[in-house]
Amino acid sequence: MRRKLAAGNWKMNGTGASLAEVEALIAAHPNPGCEVLLCPPATLVGAMAAKAAGRIGVGGQDCHSATSGAHTGDISARMLKDAGATHVILGHSERRADHAETDAMVRAKAEAARTEGLVAVICLGETEAQRDAGTTLEVVGRQLFGSTPEGATGTNTVIAYEPIWAIGTGRTPTLAQIAEVHDFLRSELVGRFGAEGGLIRLLYGGSVKPSNAAEIFATSNVDGALVGGASLKAADFGAIISAL
Ligand code: 13P
Repeated sequence: MRRKLAAGNWKMNGTGASLAEVEALIAAHPNPGCEVLLCPPATLVGAMAAKAAGRIGVGGQDCHSATSGAHTGDISARMLKDAGATHVILGHSERRADHAETDAMVRAKAEAARTEGLVAVICLGETEAQRDAGTTLEVVGRQLFGSTPEGATGTNTVIAYEPIWAIGTGRTPTLAQIAEVHDFLRSELVGRFGAEGGLIRLLYGGSVKPSNAAEIFATSNVDGALVGGASLKAADFGAIISAL
């Protein structure tokens, strides 16, 4: 049984004042019918985890694959864990683009996360040109294989399918297109990890909002969402939680 997951990615947004949204969210949804996760910028992980007090999960947006060392500006999985994080987003397309992260790097980060007991939320997705060229399944299959470590389980790993052209654009794939990719990812996971692959949750991400959440969540092999812009306000994210 895969428990539904509503995950928010605040990206490079939020200061201390934004934690009021977390308080409002928890107050409005004291007993959500799904798992809830918020991933603020690293500067807010500790404070958000203290506010959440275990009622929602709190995640980082990246980690280094090493535990410590001479890597100025980087943060390790152990540091996130120490700050109170439960999860970490890895391989987001913005990091793959802005920081030239490769599948191998994402996989090494996921291994570091697992070592520290953090759930890795591994992101993948095609560009618009790749979709137009008909190579979507080939691209996401390669990313899935390359970015997911051996030993991935339903407990330590979540996969987020985020078509790059749908992120922050207000455009979404058709439900049939989402189902095609999610069904493919499920069969790849089961092919590689056996029954355990059937337990790894598959999130959809890219312009999820209150008005389209319910139909996306009802789509084959969609176990929740990774939400960007609409996770910043408690009212919007709360409506998405309710749709799950
Ligand atoms: P938007 O929901 O703003 O499109 O962002 C999706 C995303 O990239 C979440 O990681």
